[in-house]
Amino acid sequence: MIEPLLVSSLMSHDTFLRDWIMDGESDMDGIVRYLTEIQQKYDIFTTFLVSEKTKNYYHPRGLIDTINEHNSADAWYFRFSKQSEPYEINLDHNANLSDTLIMFINYKVMDYQKRLIGVTGVGVKLINIEAMLGSFKTKYKYDVYFVDQRGEITLFSKGLNKRGNIASIDGLQKIQEAIFKGEQNQFEYKNKDGEYLLNTKYIDKLKLHLFVEINKKEYMDELTKTFYLNLFLSLLVTLAVTLIIVYTINLYQNQLIQLASEDVLTGLANRRKFNEVFELYYKRYPKEIRSLTLLLIDIDDFKSVNDTFGHLVGDQTLVHTARILKEQLRQSDTIARWGGEEFAILLSNIEEKHALEVAQKICNAVQNDAALIALLQRPLSVSVGVGMLSALESQDGLVHKVDHALYEAKKAGKNQVIAAL
Ligand code: GH3
Ligand code: MG
Ligand code: MG
Repeated sequence: MIEPLLVSSLMSHDTFLRDWIMDGESDMDGIVRYLTEIQQKYDIFTTFLVSEKTKNYYHPRGLIDTINEHNSADAWYFRFSKQSEPYEINLDHNANLSDTLIMFINYKVMDYQKRLIGVTGVGVKLINIEAMLGSFKTKYKYDVYFVDQRGEITLFSKGLNKRGNIASIDGLQKIQEAIFKGEQNQFEYKNKDGEYLLNTKYIDKLKLHLFVEINKKEYMDELTKTFYLNLFLSLLVTLAVTLIIVYTINLYQNQLIQLASEDVLTGLANRRKFNEVFELYYKRYPKEIRSLTLLLIDIDDFKSVNDTFGHLVGDQTLVHTARILKEQLRQSDTIARWGGEEFAILLSNIEEKHALEVAQKICNAVQNDAALIALLQRPLSVSVGVGMLSALESQDGLVHKVDHALYEAKKAGKNQVIAAL
């Protein structure tokens, strides 16, 4: 289940992909090989990359399109690129694309200055919707189809169901407004082909209206008893399918939220998640949360670790430091990777004296960690700034104050804790 999400996330952070775009998108073979390899390795329906600069849409088959703001099929890109979210799940109910419902997991690709340079991701098949809708028609004589907010019939069985926009379908046109208002969901309407009974239901997750309808004549031809049984069955199946779709999307969405709030290297919360928690605590201060303490931790001379042993050992050092922080703190404390070799910790409801002890404990634990000593052939050290939120102080005010304390700790010779005034 999680795999497509991880794959999309990894693609968006891949240095090859980034550099390929920044180098001018010239080596077509390179990107095609990359997208194909990922598609095959993970057995995914499709992979893609859209460039922000050229608006080219790359696919395992090559450059297949240039997306355009005025094409409604490309609207997703322009909507998504303006959002602040780094990722999204998008269902494509464009029946021309395939006979299945496809779930796209879109991830932004950023350059090293965090500017958007493209969107990448994967598409996975959810359910063969068309076959299901077709079987309702052939077995039970029900037309089951989905209509979007503009009235366009977007998910349907080709050849069996109605198609086009309901505004141009005789009979439906008149009740269109009532359907979209949602106050009523049972309708009867008439056109030259006969009289219809219609049931509608808006499915929020899909942003689509589900239509279940039957021609009254067909209904009269059936035995009443079987009709009711059939009606019941078809509604049940429709409901089940809807639930499956909604459930699947929810599951993915929750996993996405998890992924997007985690630092990939250390598994700690990332800065985005940290800010979310900070915001939440700040709102509850001082009523429910009586004290709020911030620790900013910076590894000393980390550059020399990279310079001496290379980036891989540098990364391992970060992972070990994250482990030590987790070992030294309670599960309920918020520990985040603040940036490069800096970490931030939020402690609630503890006294200043105790917060300083915790900070000192962290310093000692890093110094004495056997795994780090074995890795670097010397003890690693960190500097820590500590500060408590005071009345009327802003969030930024606290961060600024603690950052300054950290700076003082560096100036005073590193490997120590300094409390902010
Ligand atoms: P100071 O004691 O004053 O903190 O010096 P420092 O060398 O630790 O700090 P400086 O800010 O000069 O260097 C931080 C380095 O951390 C530079 C950057 O390349 C490296 N770095 C940032 N993120 C990562 C990462 O994810 N992995 C690795 N291996 N290195 C990283
Ligand atoms: Mg630093
Ligand atoms: Mg440092």
